[in-house]
Amino acid sequence: MPLKPLFDQTPQELADWCEARGQKPYRARQIFSWAFQKRAAGFAEMTDLPETFRRELAERFHYFSSTVTAHQTAADGTEKLLLSMADGSTVECVLMREGDRRTICISTQVGCAMGCVFCASGLEGLTRNLSAGEITEQILQLDRLLPADERITNIVVMGIGEPLANLDHLLQALEHVTADGGMGIGARRITISTVGLPAKIRRLAQCNKAYNLAVSLHAPNEELRSQIIPVNEGVGLAEVLSAADDYFEQVGRRVSYEYILLGELNDRPEHARQLAALLKSRIAHVNLIPMNPVAELPFRRPAEGRIRRFAEILDAAGVPVTIRKRKGADIDAACGQLRLQQRRDTEFVALANP
Ligand code: SAH
Repeated sequence: MPLKPLFDQTPQELADWCEARGQKPYRARQIFSWAFQKRAAGFAEMTDLPETFRRELAERFHYFSSTVTAHQTAADGTEKLLLSMADGSTVECVLMREGDRRTICISTQVGCAMGCVFCASGLEGLTRNLSAGEITEQILQLDRLLPADERITNIVVMGIGEPLANLDHLLQALEHVTADGGMGIGARRITISTVGLPAKIRRLAQCNKAYNLAVSLHAPNEELRSQIIPVNEGVGLAEVLSAADDYFEQVGRRVSYEYILLGELNDRPEHARQLAALLKSRIAHVNLIPMNPVAELPFRRPAEGRIRRFAEILDAAGVPVTIRKRKGADIDAACGQLRLQQRRDTEFVALANP
């Protein structure tokens, strides 16, 4: 029988499996606690489990079904992993350090179907959704980069893919980290970023967790938004904002709006004024993201003065705004680019499992 990825199992499924093997159901909690709290490298280390049972586990489950095929470290301490899945698909995930914060950025799909014109991840379309286990493994692999006395403090779901297009698997993975006996990361320290799929935003609101929602708005009017984000055409800006309003109402978490600044396209003072008009009556926060250049794409990061001016207009209108700091600039370029680069078989740093 082919091995199953361990972290595709829900705690209940694993407990049932343990029972079916004549073990107490609490064995499932012990196994997950080894993985999420004690950073075990495999079943063999789980010394409070009977040895025969550890062998049975190894005969049924992959502890890690992915392997680290590239590991880059930037001058500012940001680390990026390229993970290869069992079928050879690759995804990226990132660990960022800022003061006491240890924030990780994870992917939810292999490629992406949304087709945003500035984004490296969608250049080759969508291959498939990641499983819950494959999403979980990114979290565990990044956690293992930290020294023993440090823990992941925040998670942003802003890597490759559209998280709300793979919502069930994402929620199952996040359940592992937020659950008692998991990693102890509260939903309030987890941010899910979406291109803006209204029905899915409403479903996320119903799951009764205080996840933060970030909406990639990127334009203050319908025409420009559809030009930059093709899926907007079938959705509409008003519908995205209304779903985000409902999210705030139901979950009570302030929604943040991401706005990529593309030189000469959506970065004019008039765009800032339109954006301010849309958001000033809302409890919202704008995160300006100056374009990270992608070699294959024609878009540019605007000049610093223009970025500042855009922020000042929002600020003057009373809309809270921050400009996203670029982390890991020397390894990074935008999300999805390491994968793209590797697939094109150009220069990249490959390491044996670190
Ligand atoms: N599909 C989700 C997650 C994508 S990545 C979403 O659309 O929100 C998270 C953020 O990075 C999004 O706001 C996305 O638009 C932005 N992004 C993607 N490529 C970028 C680039 N080249 N430069 C700057 N931001 C980029």
